[in-house]
Formats: sequence, structure tokens, C-alpha cells
Amino acid sequence: MSKKILMMMVTLLTIGLLAACSSEEAEGNAEDRSDEKVQVVTTYSIIYDIVKNVGGDKVDIHSLAPIGSNPHEYDPLPEDVKKTTDADAVFYNGLNLEAGNAWFDSLMETTGKDGEDAPVFLMSDGVEAMYLTTEGNEGEEDPHAWLNIENGIQYAKNARDGLIEVDPDNKEVYEKNAEEYIAELQELHDTAVEEFNEIPEEERVLVTSEGAFKYFSEAYGFQAEYIWEINQENQGTPNQITRIVDIINEKEITGLFLETSIDPRSMEAVSNETDVPIMGDVFTDSLAEPGNEGDTYISMMKSNVETIKEGLSK
Ligand SMILES: [Zn+2]
Repeated sequence: MSKKILMMMVTLLTIGLLAACSSEEAEGNAEDRSDEKVQVVTTYSIIYDIVKNVGGDKVDIHSLAPIGSNPHEYDPLPEDVKKTTDADAVFYNGLNLEAGNAWFDSLMETTGKDGEDAPVFLMSDGVEAMYLTTEGNEGEEDPHAWLNIENGIQYAKNARDGLIEVDPDNKEVYEKNAEEYIAELQELHDTAVEEFNEIPEEERVLVTSEGAFKYFSEAYGFQAEYIWEINQENQGTPNQITRIVDIINEKEITGLFLETSIDPRSMEAVSNETDVPIMGDVFTDSLAEPGNEGDTYISMMKSNVETIKEGLSK
């Protein structure tokens, strides 16, 4: 073997070793970075899903009010307090949603997230609020803005901006994820408008237990009727039942809808009394359990559009 060839082999070997070292180093860094996912807390499942779509694999999310539960009132568990204390970012709906027993404000105070600079982000920021009209609640904001998919787009933008604020290094990722997600939401909104336009306007009356469909109704040309206007302590009282039964008879309504996250008994009583059938389940305040129809915000809204379109089509 000539000296020249030997030198070349040594050089190649050295280059190989250096390459091996640097790729090992890169892998080590990648592992470190993945350990540093942004720790996020969201107040309920719908916001969880929107933030997840924008945050992708850069975030770890803990959602407070569990799937199927009522986020208007929630009692945080010790685990929730710990996760919220450690969170890099908290996302909540606002518009009075998390106001029952002031559970959210108390949690923010307990966990030291009530300061002016705390990384707590309002998902409904920029949404035009609608208001309750029932005696005793008049003038309070109605929380259910997400049932208009165009407001869901605003939520996605707020999720993007909040994540960029706490994790500017991944700005481009959040922007790209948000752009793709918003395009999907826009398409779904446009489909909903088209589908509902096929139902004659006077037949677009939506009767549900809670009056959660104000924003939805304005966006898609419906009249919203309900047994009670907002989830709180007195639900399905005899007065409320009599009132909606009169409306159903007067307006000759042919189908009722039942929310997945609400006790069905009141709507069943209304159905019995009026002989008007319940046409299907709609999603309002919670996603479905993973693996089922309605387990994402897009899937729940798609399901709502289909159920309401079918239920009101003759
Ligand atoms: Zn609600």
C-alpha cells in the first residue's frame, strides 16, 4: 500500500467519524427540543382541538372541562391546578363561558396567571359578541360564538398569535398550520351556507334545549328557539317547557334537536307533549369522544350541518 493511499484512507475515515459525531449531536439537539414542547392549557374540548390544529407537534395540551361535560361550570381538580401553574400558555373562550361559579377566574388567581402580563389568551378576541335576552341575564354575553365557523376562523388566528407570542422560534410552523386549517374551515363554512340555502327560509327554525345557536343562526339564516337560553341552575322548569311548547305549536315546527352535552329529559318531555320528533343530536359545548363522529371541531360542525339539513328537509 502506498503512503498516498494510506493518507487518503485516514482522511476519509476522519471525515466519516466527524460526520457520525455531528449527526449524533444533531439528534441529541432534536431530542432536547422535543422535550421543550410548549405546555398549553385549554378550558374545554373545542378550544383544545383548535389550538391542537395550530400548534401541531410543538405543543402539549391539557384540557380542563372533560369531553361531554358542561364548560359553563367546572370544578378544577388538583391536576388541573398543577398543569395550569406550569403552563406556558392558557387559552379560554371568554364571552362569559367559563363564568359559572367564577371557576376560571379563581383558577387563574390560584395559579398566579391573573397578572396583566400572564400568557392567558382570549380565543374570542375580535369576535362580535351577541347578548342574552332572558330576564335576569339580559345584556350578558352569549358564549357560543364558535358555532359560527367564521368565528372559529377568528379563534384559530388567536391561537396562532398566542402561540407565536410564547414560542416565537416556531412562528413559521404556527403560521403554516393556521393557514392550512383556516382554509379548511372556510371551505366548511361555505358548504354550510350552500347546504342551508336549500331549506326555505321560513322552515329554518332550530329548536334546542339550550339557546346555544344565536351566532350559528345569524350566520346561516336560522331562527333559534330553545327551552332555556343558557345553561345554569334552573333548567327545564315547567314555565320554560310551557313557553317552548307554545312556540312549537304556533310556528308549526316539525323537528327538534338535542345537544350531546345536555341531559335529554327536558327535550324528551317537549317532544312527548308536542308530538314533534327529535330529529338528531347536535354538538354545542363539547366534542365527541375520540374515534367518534364529532371528535374534532371540523367533524362536529360537519355533523351539525348534516343533521340539521336532514332534520329540516322534507
Ligand atoms: Zn352552552
